[in-house]
Amino acid sequence: MGTENWTEKEMEQAKRAKLKREKPAVYEKVLKIADRHAAGIPTPIVDIAYSTVCNLKCLHCSARRLTPKPHKLTPEVLKDFTDQADALGLCQLNLSGGEPLLFKPLDKIFEALQPDKFHLSMSSNGHFLTGEMARKLKKMGLDKIKISLDDFDEALHDANRCDPGAYQKAMKAFFAAQEAGLSVVVQTVVTHQNCRTSRTVKMAEFCQKNGFTLDVMLAKAIGAWEGKHEVLCDGNDLKFLKETHDSIPALHLDTFPTYGIDRGCGTVDSTIHMTPYGDILPCVFIHISLGNIFEESLADILKRGKSIRHFAEYHPCCLSGMDRNFISKYMSKFYGKEIPISWKDAFTEEDFIHEQK
Ligand code: SF4
Repeated sequence: MGTENWTEKEMEQAKRAKLKREKPAVYEKVLKIADRHAAGIPTPIVDIAYSTVCNLKCLHCSARRLTPKPHKLTPEVLKDFTDQADALGLCQLNLSGGEPLLFKPLDKIFEALQPDKFHLSMSSNGHFLTGEMARKLKKMGLDKIKISLDDFDEALHDANRCDPGAYQKAMKAFFAAQEAGLSVVVQTVVTHQNCRTSRTVKMAEFCQKNGFTLDVMLAKAIGAWEGKHEVLCDGNDLKFLKETHDSIPALHLDTFPTYGIDRGCGTVDSTIHMTPYGDILPCVFIHISLGNIFEESLADILKRGKSIRHFAEYHPCCLSGMDRNFISKYMSKFYGKEIPISWKDAFTEEDFIHEQK
């Protein structure tokens, strides 16, 4: 691939050139993000958990803990949502779940995502991602695939996924996706215990060498780790990740600046998450609903999100993974509860920049 010695700038330029070539209209929208950010206009990537259907039972998964609600996403609802997102200038969507390759009818879901108007990525466990499937997805308008890898220790990865063979399938999926022309992101969770180890460096080197991105997700004290603050990374862990990123730019943390923009923690401004029941969360890890698309417009929900000071103000570190104050004061409110809880149960007047009516 010849990517082993690429700098961060070269990697970013290659990604932008690919988008310009393949989706020029989306490229034009993406170019406006910096100005929108400077003007305080949110342009979040929307992570859409269309359904909780999955073939695996991963130990850390919180998707199955979501409380079912009467309304569920359908292709028709999704189309209306993506129309709203496009009108608001949003340009990136990620399909997640559950396991998206089990969603039916996948072609109708992709149509509703309007691939000509958005950069589309998908989070998958890679189980069903054969070469043929990767080519089909590329044709349907997918740009990027994100697949989780817990460790190069095959037994550990398989044990976490409760599936012997999961590691091998993920490995094959990375290369099948790349062969089909998809950008590949390897996602991995980093805890305080395993952060400053050769595991992190080896994963970054693997990605750098193969032209993949290593998306490091800091451990959160939720789900199987609910209340376990000992897994949370600290300042020294963050320093180590930054130094590793400086020498191996394939390693990426979502609070690191990209394309010259330092947005810090991206809640609402650069990421939101939608559950299969239409609730919009400020981040997939913060199980507090900002509103529901079956009841309100996306514009109104984003406005509410930006009126909550924790999501409107700049935070250099991950709110849900490193900010002990935010975790103890707000995330603990959904511990042991049916999720997501409402913004009304999480925040009080002092948390708002403008008072809600
Ligand atoms: S809370 Fe953490 S994971 Fe969520 S958007 Fe902020 S930096 Fe990203």
